[in-house]
Amino acid sequence: MVKVKRKPLEEIAESVKGYTKILNVGCGGCVSVCLAGGQREVKTTNAELTLLFEEKGINSRVDGYTVERQCNAACLEELDDLVVRYDCLLSMACGAGVQMLAERYPSKPVFPAQNTVAIGVDREIGVYEEKCRACGRCVLAYTGGIWIPCAWNDIYIRLKQQNRLDDIKKIHLAMEWQNSTPRTIVQPQYEHLYAKEEK
Ligand code: SF4
Ligand code: SF4
Repeated sequence: MVKVKRKPLEEIAESVKGYTKILNVGCGGCVSVCLAGGQREVKTTNAELTLLFEEKGINSRVDGYTVERQCNAACLEELDDLVVRYDCLLSMACGAGVQMLAERYPSKPVFPAQNTVAIGVDREIGVYEEKCRACGRCVLAYTGGIWIPCAWNDIYIRLKQQNRLDDIKKIHLAMEWQNSTPRTIVQPQYEHLYAKEEK
């Protein structure tokens, strides 16, 4: 599922500044499941925005409507008649939903109300673990379905535990990789045993 985090209210308000009739469009997909951008969150955001507009003496009105999925054109059809009545659109979906709205309604400014942060899985209720960076060249077929952990992440965690984070900042020369072919190592104390053979 795509994970999002709502932008600060002030930032959302700033983006729609100057528009009188605003339609906040929610998404019933990923963002609804993780309680970030569905019908309920549209309602909450709109209530907070309305309060902010009142406090600042801004004469704007924000309404809400939630579609099943904002990234699907067929799901946007029901919005067509509604959108014409508004000056701009806010989107509570992920970046894909925002772009879909912008593509379908090119005459309307579309503003994101969310920061899209990750593609992840549910670990606990409300706890999501990032699992994919959408790199476009998936290697999971060769890694047993495991997303390759980053050694530097583990190094950072270990050094932090040991209060040794300064070590991670030290610059080291590039490795010469002398051991790229198998070597035989003789301890100096035993060199005399093999000195003949080496000559
Ligand atoms: S628009 Fe984004 S959040 Fe909504 S269903 Fe599609 S991918 Fe998920
Ligand atoms: S390798 Fe696969 S799982 Fe990892 S970022 Fe790329 S697409 Fe996502």
